[in-house]
Amino acid sequence: MITLENSRTNVDAYESFFLHQGEEGIHAFRKQVELVSQKLQEVITEADNPFIGKSPEDIKSEIQPMMEFTKETQSLKEVLDSMEDPILKNSLHISHEKSIAHLHCPPLLPGIVAELVIGTLNQSMDSWDQSTAATYVEEEMVKKIAEKAHLPETADGVFTSGGTQSNYMGLLLARDSFCHTYWDQRVQQDGLPEGFGRLRIICSEEAHFTVKKSAAHLGLGEQAVVTIKTDAHHRMKVDDVKQTLAQMETDNLLPFAIVATCGTTDFGSIDPLPELAEVSEEHNIWFHVDAAFGGGLLFSHSHCKKVNGLQLADSITIDFHKLLYQPISCGLFLVKDQNNFHYLSHHADYLNPVRDEEDGIVNLVNKSVQTTRRFDALKFFLTIKTLGTNLLGSMIDDTLELAKETANYLKGLESFSIQNVDPELNTVIFRFQPKASISIDGNDLNRSIQQQLLHEGKAVVAKTSFNGDTYLKFTLLNPRTTFSDMKEVIHDIEGIGNQLVNGGVKC
Ligand SMILES: *Cc1c(COP(=O)(O)O)cnc(C)c1O
Repeated sequence: MITLENSRTNVDAYESFFLHQGEEGIHAFRKQVELVSQKLQEVITEADNPFIGKSPEDIKSEIQPMMEFTKETQSLKEVLDSMEDPILKNSLHISHEKSIAHLHCPPLLPGIVAELVIGTLNQSMDSWDQSTAATYVEEEMVKKIAEKAHLPETADGVFTSGGTQSNYMGLLLARDSFCHTYWDQRVQQDGLPEGFGRLRIICSEEAHFTVKKSAAHLGLGEQAVVTIKTDAHHRMKVDDVKQTLAQMETDNLLPFAIVATCGTTDFGSIDPLPELAEVSEEHNIWFHVDAAFGGGLLFSHSHCKKVNGLQLADSITIDFHKLLYQPISCGLFLVKDQNNFHYLSHHADYLNPVRDEEDGIVNLVNKSVQTTRRFDALKFFLTIKTLGTNLLGSMIDDTLELAKETANYLKGLESFSIQNVDPELNTVIFRFQPKASISIDGNDLNRSIQQQLLHEGKAVVAKTSFNGDTYLKFTLLNPRTTFSDMKEVIHDIEGIGNQLVNGGVKC
């Protein structure tokens, strides 16, 4: 017969796998953190290129065999050694000066070490009794950012997994607040009202795809999103918005949200926020600003004026894991009137009973679409306290300056054509296009250049399409990337381009 005691045979082995006051726990913690730090130092010291350049198949075949679950315990050192080649070295080195593809930033060291604190404390932001101090750190951080954005005192917000979730939340609150006032219907309780098929969301044709995705998740379908043409600077045309609204009235449609983008993913363009706020106000429509990218300009010294109008939004999306250098994930959703959070709060007896609220206990689950939630606010806290706003601001400004210099340089080169000579944010959109007539399709050519750069490990740049053509894209988020790095990358692009033109495109 198994007794209670001898059914717990491995108790001793547990000691070095959890944090505890005992010497063994503390020692194991120190040792493991040291080992990880050492291994990462080795890998980073050796990483000359932003990417090792292997093919997807090769990487997959290195990963697969090591994924077998092991039965017996193994030392951390052994496991770290075994993952060095297939995982660590095959990863994209996002902190490399020539990792310049997407809105994917090199994380700041304070953000990285904050991840260790976050994991160690493992607070859960849903209820106060799981995040006793963290709740207030997040609350105060939200307040400070709302002040920075010049939102009124009624404003509130919550940390999110990123722009996707923040955009979804903005449109969720917009939908439910509209259905409440227009139909006197509580969507949360009663579902969508009859006639919901008439609901419409307005955004520019260059808005992020998550506006459509949100519409789909909100039961409205992507058909509910009406896109507006953009001007030569890729900004939503306000006159077209007005015309669309007039037409919608004629057609008996119900526009309930205008989504402006403050920093589009490709061109970094900023919709005319004050004008769009005015139109929204006139028509009594919720004004959401997707500032996932551009919201970081709140901390810029030279460019913060560009986000003027943000303070007029009913709700705002800001990503800290883009222009503000935080490890993924770290996003923020802000709302001008905190009462709107009622549309998503749900009282669970075990987590956030009404009684808690009466007693003044703050349970952040009331403001989130998540339940268990990370203490991501700590990353930005540690960043802002250690760097200070002066240094953070100049980092952002320097990257915008680099984008300008790079665009200007490309403009002067014969073999390139550039789409945004005067970049609004950190992106440069261009293509290799030699003057002499070439027999290769320009789209195939630029796609091949991007591939080859990646597989030679020289630089990680992005490709995008504009007006049906393939373009290359730099997203210059790393303040350590220099103009001479950029000249090297451009030189490499030209070299590969010429080679392909002369030797034909490999497929
Ligand atoms: C990145 C981005 C999003 C999506 O945000 P995630 O953090 O990736 O979820 C939404 N809108 C814009 C403009 C973005 O740049």
